Amino acid sequence: MRHICVLGSTGSIGVSTLDVIRAHPHLFKVESLTAHSNIELLAKQCEEFKPKMVVLGSADVANRLNALLKTMGLNISVEHGAEALVTASTLTSVDTVMAAIVGAAGLLPTIEAAKLGKRILLANKEALVMAGDIFMSAVASSGAELLPIDSEHNAIYQCLPDANTSNGGSRGKYASLGVKEILLTASGGPFRNHSLDQLKEVTPDQACAHPNWVMGRKISVDSATMMNKGLEVIEAHHLFGLPSEQIKVLIHPQSVVHSMVRYIDGSVIAQLGQPDMKTPIAYGLGWPLRIDAGVKELDFATAHDLSFEPVDLQRFPCLSLSYQALAVGGLSPTILNAANEVAVDAFLNHRIRFTQIAELVERVLDQTQVIGAMSLEGILEADKTARQHAQLMVKGLNI
Ligand code: NAD
Ligand code: MG
Repeated sequence: MRHICVLGSTGSIGVSTLDVIRAHPHLFKVESLTAHSNIELLAKQCEEFKPKMVVLGSADVANRLNALLKTMGLNISVEHGAEALVTASTLTSVDTVMAAIVGAAGLLPTIEAAKLGKRILLANKEALVMAGDIFMSAVASSGAELLPIDSEHNAIYQCLPDANTSNGGSRGKYASLGVKEILLTASGGPFRNHSLDQLKEVTPDQACAHPNWVMGRKISVDSATMMNKGLEVIEAHHLFGLPSEQIKVLIHPQSVVHSMVRYIDGSVIAQLGQPDMKTPIAYGLGWPLRIDAGVKELDFATAHDLSFEPVDLQRFPCLSLSYQALAVGGLSPTILNAANEVAVDAFLNHRIRFTQIAELVERVLDQTQVIGAMSLEGILEADKTARQHAQLMVKGLNI
């Protein structure tokens, strides 16, 4: 039996994780859950899964949940704040952590669990973008099992030569195993065919209406700008130890082929499935065994169009910015991620236009000089500086 902490249990990935866990009560026991503020849903999850401990974002919501749990007759420890997130992910009884907090807030509880050698199911790509080298060395020195949950990376993981035998044992050595490159597929989001002029006018609700996937609002906007694919290129670089020249992106509007690996002999191996995150989540929870994810089968008896096309970098500059940040290296990906988080938040709150997200990220990348050590503290400091810089720029932009 695996003992699980779900960081971000009230979000899209968190809820899907609990759906898979619910279907296998003999395989999984929930030890701790965390959420930012949705106490109604967290209370329901407490009633069903009876964790030892839950964590919320502030004292106010923690007190309210505590009162609610008392009326429900549940004796569960309720804490709040950043340190409590680390307590939840590093409990001795926890052996598996689903990292499904959105954004930089997920970094510390995830990396601290990795240092202790726990199995990490990584959905929170921002953690790897901002601190990839440090995160991966924490995994290597503790021997933690790191399983990608992001659907593209989960697909690539399944298509690599050693998926079921060695967890990351061949990281950085894939070229010697005949891997030529990896092909990350991208749906292109809701604005795949929009002109630049049309992109200037799109609203947050339109950006969050993804054609294939149901996701949280931040990643939905990232999918619409294609920053999501840019973050995924950086994520793939760290997860698989491949240089950026061997990480390609192509548009595949149907989101059925989740990604592919091209080998030197001409073979291309792809992973296919429904666009439903329960498949990669079940893969990570069950690894190396396969378990039922509760996902509808792909039906090949009805016609499927699987089409592929190149990306238009003019309309989706966030992808180029990500490749550039990866090439510059150092703290650039940290700055890219921080600026993007601020820009997406400003767009969702109607303070900047959709097309200004890329402009803002580019300006913050150009103008933020951070000379810091590549330590966790240095990264958190660069994250903070870039956010302050981005916030000032938001104020200066006219919508
Ligand atoms: P979401 O917005 O639906 O959920 C986010 C969760 O994080 C919620 O439980 C929320 O309470 C918690 N949270 C938010 N801010 C927090 C903070 N400051 N401190 C602590 N907790 C906080 O997001 P999601 O779509 O579930 O995505 C979660 C992560 O998984 C993201 O990093 C995203 O990029 C990644 N991901 C999601 C999908 C998907 O299909 N949804 C696919 C691939 C990767
Ligand atoms: Mg993805």
